[in-house]
Amino acid sequence: MDARLSAKFPFLKEALEFAEENSADLESLLTSENFSPARARGRERVMDAIASGEVAYKPLMRDYDCLMEVMSYPYARMLVSVVWDRYLTKRYALGEAVRMNKVLSGEDHATMIKVSDEMGFHAETDPDGTMRMKFPDYLMLSSRMKSVDWKLINSDVRAGMVVLPGEKFNRLMQNALQDKIESELPLRPPDEFLPYLERDAAAVKLALDDAKAKMSPTRGEGMKDEFLPPCVKHLLEMSLKGINLPHSGRFALVTFMSALGLDYDAIIKIFAESPDFDESKSEYQIKHITGELNGTDPYTPPECKTMKTNGLCHEPDALCEKVNHPLNYYRIKSGNPMRRKEGESRPRPSLFRFLQVIIALCTAVRLPTTANQSIIISIQLSPNPKISKDPYPKCIATYWMTGNTVESTTLSARPRSPA
Ligand code: SF4
Repeated sequence: MDARLSAKFPFLKEALEFAEENSADLESLLTSENFSPARARGRERVMDAIASGEVAYKPLMRDYDCLMEVMSYPYARMLVSVVWDRYLTKRYALGEAVRMNKVLSGEDHATMIKVSDEMGFHAETDPDGTMRMKFPDYLMLSSRMKSVDWKLINSDVRAGMVVLPGEKFNRLMQNALQDKIESELPLRPPDEFLPYLERDAAAVKLALDDAKAKMSPTRGEGMKDEFLPPCVKHLLEMSLKGINLPHSGRFALVTFMSALGLDYDAIIKIFAESPDFDESKSEYQIKHITGELNGTDPYTPPECKTMKTNGLCHEPDALCEKVNHPLNYYRIKSGNPMRRKEGESRPRPSLFRFLQVIIALCTAVRLPTTANQSIIISIQLSPNPKISKDPYPKCIATYWMTGNTVESTTLSARPRSPA
């Protein structure tokens, strides 16, 4: 197996085979001194992702360094799994995906197709150096791209295939890897792994908390009443006076408090004064809204327009005229304004482009499917291995490195909490 290719793309089956050829198993990764560079690099991968949203890449020449790089990938995935934080999972997935995009830009078409195939997207190359992808795949992978350049109507579509320059193709592969990792993690590390991961996981958690505090509108200093917008102040006052809030008011309050970083205990105290307070019901609602219940993203607080529609905008002041969101009000008043992106104008699609899309729709044979179409969602773990002299079953390494299906299904791929 190609050592350098494996180091560049440690999520490929080829990387797993390279590790197996070199007798690198998970026991050695966690316990052997020989693998301490892999553990250090694995931790660095996660730290890079937290700090900059990109896992750094440096070219490697020696096979030993390539092996360490390959094994650092499952170690990083274990750390992310142990910390068990949705933001971290997403950030790490982004970091690995951005790294892959950069690495892919220096590769030939055969490698681009190999990477694409392994992520479940069939691609072809043209003699002129462009890439082609089926338009349903294109639609799926480009759905989050906001620029008009990515609209299908502005793309070159031929016989159901979208023709793409290399950099655009690689950007879509970035999205594919990001989705893949997000759907795979967190995994359940066996109990026996935990003592070996504890120290690095604690360091990651610390860095994560720090990054979250910096990102928060309160910059980790806790909510300050003097910065609250009039609408939220009013909702809080009503709640503390024991006045029943309408459902939309509770939703606005919980999402706002959650966005400011208040935890469940702090939020539920606000509702404890309500005359119809029912702790178990409130707990369910709060945890559902904050995403704690299902491990999903928290709901975002409603913008001013929605607040006005719901009759929740209360005595707006001068600053209210300059904002479109209660969180922006808080940010500006606390001296932490949010950066805004320049708006882009949207060119009118030409008739030619429109016809191209119609032809593509008529000639394509496959319909778009869900974003996780090709991603394994029911990865299972066979009985927990022990840290022992015995080599790990092949499937366990697969589980941590490529996320591919393994035999013997007994546990959920997304268990409720790590052991
Ligand atoms: S304008 Fe917006 S921030 Fe101001 S009170 Fe109304 S909803 Fe709240």
